[in-house]
Amino acid sequence: MGLPGRGLAGGLATTFRTMTRRSITQQYPDVSPDLPPRTRGVIALLEENCTVCMLCARECPDWCIYIDSHKETLPATTEGGRERTRNVLDRFAIDFSLCMYCGICIEACPFDALFWSPEFEYAELDIRELVHERDRLALWMDTVPPPPPLDPGAEEAKEIAAARKAVAAPAPTGDRHGEGAAR
Ligand code: SF4
Ligand code: SF4
Repeated sequence: MGLPGRGLAGGLATTFRTMTRRSITQQYPDVSPDLPPRTRGVIALLEENCTVCMLCARECPDWCIYIDSHKETLPATTEGGRERTRNVLDRFAIDFSLCMYCGICIEACPFDALFWSPEFEYAELDIRELVHERDRLALWMDTVPPPPPLDPGAEEAKEIAAARKAVAAPAPTGDRHGEGAAR
């Protein structure tokens, strides 16, 4: 059997010990939280990259991505060539009242049109306002952080290596057409 009051003394000792430590509470909203770079706050749309392939909407487990589009016919660029059709985006919306922030749409997009933004301050009093249409999704792009640097020793992405090589390649010497015109 222990000494009487031992538990109380132990409790008071813990209280005094923690009283002297600095508090780690973040005073949100007066102080913005320091969020990790991969925070899943809201999804941003880079509309220029979207080809309306519909993969994101098909893969979304919650069916909360709404896409409408129509086809547009482009005239042939060469004589005797064929006309081409392309998809034109009419609507792109995400319902964040249904979204479970799984990130599958971002992973599934083959054209880098969707990104995570760490922004999370978009609560609404009316749940219908949580459907973000394409204009609002595009505005979130300004808040998407740059990609984190590669790990030391990691291999550079093929696209970046090819672009770097193209820039470093010496410019062609002499313009054959120009030379012909000068003669
Ligand atoms: S994060 Fe997941 S649930 Fe949300 S829109 Fe993308 S796929 Fe759907
Ligand atoms: S997967 Fe990407 S490119 Fe395809 S519709 Fe979705 S956002 Fe657009």
